[in-house]
Amino acid sequence: ADIAMYRAKRGRLGHAFYHQGEEEAVARRLTLEEALRRAFAADELELHYQPRVEMPAGRIRSLEALVRWRHPERGLVPPGEFITAAEEGGLIGELDRWVREAACRQLARWQGEGIAVPVAVNVSAVELRNEGLAESIGEALRRHGVAGRLLEVEITESAAMEDPERSVTVLGAIKAEGVAVSIDDFGTGYSSLSYLKRLPADHLKIDRSFVAGLGGGGADEDIVRAIIAVAGSLGLEVIAEGVETEAQERFLLEAGCRLAQGYRYGRPVPAAEMARLLRAARGAGGEG
Ligand code: C2E
Ligand code: MG
Ligand code: MG
Ligand code: MG
Repeated sequence: ADIAMYRAKRGRLGHAFYHQGEEEAVARRLTLEEALRRAFAADELELHYQPRVEMPAGRIRSLEALVRWRHPERGLVPPGEFITAAEEGGLIGELDRWVREAACRQLARWQGEGIAVPVAVNVSAVELRNEGLAESIGEALRRHGVAGRLLEVEITESAAMEDPERSVTVLGAIKAEGVAVSIDDFGTGYSSLSYLKRLPADHLKIDRSFVAGLGGGGADEDIVRAIIAVAGSLGLEVIAEGVETEAQERFLLEAGCRLAQGYRYGRPVPAAEMARLLRAARGAGGEG
């Protein structure tokens, strides 16, 4: 009888705790959504830029724009802490539009200074279902007087494969604006090679989780070689994400991958700092 009562009690308590926890999670998310809405109004979002470079010298080929939230109390909040809330709260369209807008405004300035290189912006899976995406991208480019070749979009492999037929159409429309497409976090989704073949993409980014395992002789090395081979046969240029060490760089170069993004070459930095790097690269004759 004692055991039965204990079980009943624990069950009830467990139930109560579960609900309490759930309510707290919902409340936290609501607060985050509200705070994010206010962040737009208060202009608290900013873009940081990370170089994509040619190995081994590190010449900057293009940049990835990564959103951050300059929170008045919490400081610089990384996107991992608010992108999901933005997606669930229906704010991601607005957020990604803000990012495109900010990237185009920045590109227009860098174009004027003669230091512009292509900038890639991330597009959420939710935005990939937006009918007007390509049109919205083209409109932003024209309004800012930015050449299409200076903007790129990154879409994750898993997002692209959610509705592959649709992705073929949407990415095709984006490419028609002169904008290059990268398949992001490649290797973590479930690609159908027949759809991958049809996707109008330009670059394939090897997910950081595989790059982390390079140089030690493990299975990640075979996976990365296989990804590079697939990309090669599909005519896609490979970019390795998250390159941090010389051993990783050496492996990638030997495997035939020349482009990389990672802390080894530069962390994401604010626009002003990136502008200094671009000017220095130009001054050194690094950029054409
Ligand atoms: P991602 O698009 O795969 O971006 C690369 C992430 O890897 C960035 O994290 C970058 O800071 C980090 N990273 C780069 N090099 C290294 C390295 O050598 N080592 C390690 N450990 N990390 C490295 P971040 O900025 O925190 O962004 C995380 C994710 O948030 C992005 O992954 C992207 O999926 C998403 N995100 C960022 N900005 C946006 C945006 O404007 N819109 C949308 N929808 N998603 C965004
Ligand atoms: Mg990305
Ligand atoms: Mg990535
Ligand atoms: Mg990633």
